[in-house]
Order: sequence, then structure tokens, then C-alpha cells
Amino acid sequence: MSKPYRLAAKRTDEHETALTLSSTEISKDHFTVIAGPCSVESRSQMMECAHALSEEGITLMRGGAFKPRTSPYSFQGNGEKGLMWMKEAADAYGINTVSEVVDREQIPLVSAYVDMLQVGARNMHNYSLLTALGETSTPVFLKRGMSATYEDLLLSAEYILERGNPNVLLCERGIRTFESYARNTLDIAAVPILQSKTHLPIFVDPSHGVGLREMVPPLVYAALAAGADGVMIEVHPRPEESVSDSRQTIGFETLSLVMERLRILAPTFGRKITTAALV
Ligand code: PEP
Ligand code: MN
Repeated sequence: MSKPYRLAAKRTDEHETALTLSSTEISKDHFTVIAGPCSVESRSQMMECAHALSEEGITLMRGGAFKPRTSPYSFQGNGEKGLMWMKEAADAYGINTVSEVVDREQIPLVSAYVDMLQVGARNMHNYSLLTALGETSTPVFLKRGMSATYEDLLLSAEYILERGNPNVLLCERGIRTFESYARNTLDIAAVPILQSKTHLPIFVDPSHGVGLREMVPPLVYAALAAGADGVMIEVHPRPEESVSDSRQTIGFETLSLVMERLRILAPTFGRKITTAALV
């Protein structure tokens, strides 16, 4: 039976998509850590983050400049100024960046500053945005909607692939269930299930997935063990001061501990943590 997501579907067991940014390699051999603040707040915050990441050998920094907040009264992001701060910091340390694009008109602006465009959970069903991203060649980090099935996610990826952009990564970031203790229920089973269906890289975001900073490290290790190609983690120089998602944001000390453990664990799962300089 032919799959409804024919381009996203895995054709053979070995069929896997790899992706290379200037300083970052995403492939079956690597476990790629993406880290950075929820929101880009200031130039100095981004410099501190880029420095901490590069000390740990992390080559892909996140940071939201256009923030899709649940409440219209919450901080909505620093916009283009934020993208400039992020790019300046990333360039100073030779690392790559990813940031969210919330509507199709913003694509040229955001892609002028970042190496990868993020589609957030709230926009996974924004087909006009997905189609427009399909007409670029910029890698797209596509997050699973809060109530999206695996097939919904794969069909959203298909919108991008079908327009000719092959550079799509999927991210499990927690779904809504009856459990209300944590912010969301991180669906770790999504990793092997999606991997059985698609050749696209699969990431896990434990920060949004659980919403509690002390639960982030164990879920990073779980993502590696489940076979994920990487994780996205929210990190801030002073997590309690983070203007958004403070409760789920870890500090540099915890990041360092996580990286130390990942360096020990990754080889067991056939992965490398650091990417040799590619440039
Ligand atoms: C984010 O990563 O900044 C974000 C808003 O996440 P999500 O879309 O998964 O809620
Ligand atoms: Mn966030």
C-alpha cells in the first residue's frame, strides 16, 4: 500500500537523510545537541551562550526572536534585533543557528540571519508556511504539534518536501494528554516509531516536552538511548531570569554535566557528540 507521505517515507532500512551545516553534521553517526535560550534577550546573553556552547563543543545554537506565545500579553520576542545579536554571537564562535519563523512573510528576513528555520508546534498545521518553506533550500526544523499524530507530522513534512526542499528535520516536543503534572507528556516512543517510518532525522526537545528543568537531563539521555539524532535544549546564563520558559531552562553547569555524560554514553549507541571542524 502506498504511503500518504511518499517523500517522507523510508524506502529501505538503510535509507536515512543526513544534513551538513557549515559547522554541524547531522547524521546517524552523530548525536547533535542544539542549545540556547528560549528567547533572544540581549547581545550579551547571546555572547555568553555562544561561549558556553563552544566550550562544550556544541555547534548549533537556538534562540527565539519571533515568539509564538500562548498569551498575547507575554513577551513576543526581539524580532530582527534579536536575530542580529544571535548571528553576531554565533559568528564570533563559528557556530550555526536556528530560530523560529512564525509566518511566511518572515522567511526572507529570518533566513538572512540563521542556518536553519524552526516551525513551532503551534504552526505545524500552517500549510501556507510549510509550502513557502518548501520553496527554499534552508533546512527546516519541524516540531510536532501538541495534538498531532505521527502521520499528521509526516504529512506536514511532506508539504515541505513536495515543494522541493529535502532538508527537513522532525522534533518530538511533548504532546497534550490527561496528565497535568508536567507541561506536556514527552512521547519518547515517537523516536523509534518515526524512525521506522521516515528517513528524516528525528530530534527530541525535552525542555518543552516536560517543562521542568530538573527533568531535562534524564530525558536527554532517554532520547539518545531511544535512537534520536539529537536534542534541542533551552539554556540560559541565569535560568531564573529567563524572560520566557524559565522553569524548564537549565544553566551552564547542568549543560556541562549533560555533555559530560553524553560523551560517555554516546559511543554505546554508535554516536559521536562532537563534529570535527567542517570548514
Ligand atoms: C520553541 O522551541 O521556542 C517553542 C516555542 O517550542 P514549541 O513550538 O515546541 O512550543
Ligand atoms: Mn521556549
